[in-house]
Amino acid sequence: MSEPPRLNSIARDFRPYQPSQLACSADGRAYLLARNETPFGPLPSVISAITAAAAQSHRYPDPLSAELAGELAGRLDVPADNLVVGAGSVAFIQAILAAVAEPGANVIYAWRSFELYSLLAGLAGLASVRVPLVAERHDLEAMSAAVDARTRLVMVCNPNNPTGTAVTKEALVSFLDSVPAGCLVVLDEAYGEYMRCPGPGAELFRDRPNLIVLRTFSKAYGLAGLRVGYMLAHSYITSRIRNMCLPFGVSHVAQAAAVASLRAERELLDRVTLTVAERTRVRAALLARGYVVPPSEANFVWIRLGRETTSFAARCAHAGVNVQPYPGEGVRVTIGSAEDNEAFLAATAAGSATLQAKPRGDS
Ligand SMILES: *Cc1c(COP(=O)(O)O)cnc(C)c1O
Repeated sequence: MSEPPRLNSIARDFRPYQPSQLACSADGRAYLLARNETPFGPLPSVISAITAAAAQSHRYPDPLSAELAGELAGRLDVPADNLVVGAGSVAFIQAILAAVAEPGANVIYAWRSFELYSLLAGLAGLASVRVPLVAERHDLEAMSAAVDARTRLVMVCNPNNPTGTAVTKEALVSFLDSVPAGCLVVLDEAYGEYMRCPGPGAELFRDRPNLIVLRTFSKAYGLAGLRVGYMLAHSYITSRIRNMCLPFGVSHVAQAAAVASLRAERELLDRVTLTVAERTRVRAALLARGYVVPPSEANFVWIRLGRETTSFAARCAHAGVNVQPYPGEGVRVTIGSAEDNEAFLAATAAGSATLQAKPRGDS
């Protein structure tokens, strides 16, 4: 037998992200509460923009997404060279990790936080330093203390996925002040629109040459299927990261949909208000049943369940309610439509007394 073609150790051993299988109830219903998508489909004005842009699909898109970038720069009042449009935050995370990766270098992030930080760090060949959450929150002091000469990047997910918790602006500012200028910080504000005070990134990066802010159209703007987001940073960083992203990465359709979404921002942010009200309602119902649920500033809630995690998620799946389990730790449940959320609460109501969460981290 001949040997397989020679691949490097990353390609040989890489463990990919494993999206879970879709569960349906006995009567064929599926409630999609596992991926933090908005339950609301695109607005009619956005669908028309998508349809019109689709007619240009034989052309390569504008590689600079100039119209969208101009629209964003104007709204955020930032210089055009401080902003890059890209194929979702994940594309930027990959490019930023590639830009700092070298032998011996590491990246720091909280754990548990966004799964892809760890996967993409591994793919870039960077060592990960995971700093445990404290009371389901980023421990920014410990993260700052973990920075050493090998650290090239610290990722801060605010609000944190999957726990929904946010850090205060004051805590963030003193953290940023403590990180050496030579070490980048990425502030991932994927859920910034759902916060009580909107994510502070656009203000904080202005006088901080080592801060990168990531925002996406995938969550509150409802364009997860089209792959578009943007980053804010000083031009030394934006010019280089732009060069490291694949050219023509953002389709015409995605660019046009994002522009149309910004022009309908008011309606989209009204939907955020509905989601926030549902979040309050769902959390209150869970707390009343004795579950441990930290306050969330995102479009999902985190239920600390320890050993009960898998059985809780299985009970949801049986009713066609798809949630995201983290075995041994807890379950992340997206806030969907009022109907979705009712289905979730109904699925977890029966017998909930036997599913009371144990204090923490038991497995
Ligand atoms: C969903 C999510 C994103 C969004 O990624 P896109 O590539 O823009 O869809 C980024 N960061 C976090 C923490 C997320 O949960």
